[in-house]
Amino acid sequence: MAPDTQEIGQPVQPGPGRSKISREQPCHFFPQGPTIMRAVTFAAPWDLRTVSVPDPVVLAPTDVIVRVEAAAICGSDLHVYRGVERGLDAGTVLGHEFTGTVVSAGYAVVRARPGTRVAAPFTVNCGRCWACRRGLTARCVESQVFGWVQQGCGLHGGQAELVRVPHADATLVPIDESIPPELALLAGDVFSTGLHAVEQGGVQPGDAVAILGLGPVGQCAVLAAVAAGARVVYAIDRVAHRLEQAQRHGATPVELEADVLATIRHGTEGRGVDVVIEAVGYPDATQLAWQIVRPGGTISAPGVHNEPAFALTPGQLYDKNLTYRAGRAPARAYLERSLALLNREGWRLEGLFSHHLSLAEAPRGYEIFNERRENCTKVLLRME
Ligand SMILES: [Zn+2]
Ligand SMILES: [Zn+2]
Repeated sequence: MAPDTQEIGQPVQPGPGRSKISREQPCHFFPQGPTIMRAVTFAAPWDLRTVSVPDPVVLAPTDVIVRVEAAAICGSDLHVYRGVERGLDAGTVLGHEFTGTVVSAGYAVVRARPGTRVAAPFTVNCGRCWACRRGLTARCVESQVFGWVQQGCGLHGGQAELVRVPHADATLVPIDESIPPELALLAGDVFSTGLHAVEQGGVQPGDAVAILGLGPVGQCAVLAAVAAGARVVYAIDRVAHRLEQAQRHGATPVELEADVLATIRHGTEGRGVDVVIEAVGYPDATQLAWQIVRPGGTISAPGVHNEPAFALTPGQLYDKNLTYRAGRAPARAYLERSLALLNREGWRLEGLFSHHLSLAEAPRGYEIFNERRENCTKVLLRME
């Protein structure tokens, strides 16, 4: 959903444009199941806990319950952890990246029947509305993000032994037993977000592309840009092991502290790159993107920005005839293609999950991911 951010930003209330829950979603209480599962829950910023909570139950005929095989901690989960995004109810089960097997289903579910192993996008979608029919599943009128419950409304997340999935047939994608959980997790969010960044940027074969920020989304965008036929992919970051990783994926590494502008001018006959993928989420990165994009080029920003105003002026856009494209990736619309691409190229991302931890160790996982200790690039949570 969001790139791994570079700095800690200022706390900002989620605005109406970044609502996690569609306004058309009914609000309801969460009936409690008869048995108790383990889950990672939000208590307060900097205070997450693995606790016992009631099992989720099927609430609607189109719901299923998935027994989670593995979940992941996302860069955007850190926004909640740091208190940058606020409004989450205490007790919310966190996490929007998970994969597992359906264990119970409402009577209207046809495809995602019990026993089906599934990949899940980070948002729910109905599959029928205007947005869904056009592949803009992230803006479905019944969209909800897993792991966001606010004032009693919303959807609990997948960093748990069980998770309820509404609109299961439209949302979930059945997957083969041979697909490693790591690839299913990447397809559900960060890889689809990287692919979306490349596609909304309009990357064409022969293009020069720059990717700012080499967190998991940036790394996936490198892979997707190379697969799209980019002539050169400049991968820009200040962390050495991230630059090395991007180089292994086929990028030209550029240290942020070095003369980025001179390097890119040198490689593009002085023009700048055709497309910049800004996978940082901070205004400084938007400004750097503006400096290195060519006239008539595109800046593609797939991540959440929390600053109160747009970092560029209308004059800056005008002076370069720029296209700026932003927005949440419609991960469901990309899921099958992401899985196919990951099946071929996913081995290159081996090592992206630097830490495999148990659900009980999740609070420590958030801590080391946030502080980037132990060269942490992404945390996978296995169920005990
Ligand atoms: Zn995510
Ligand atoms: Zn829809």
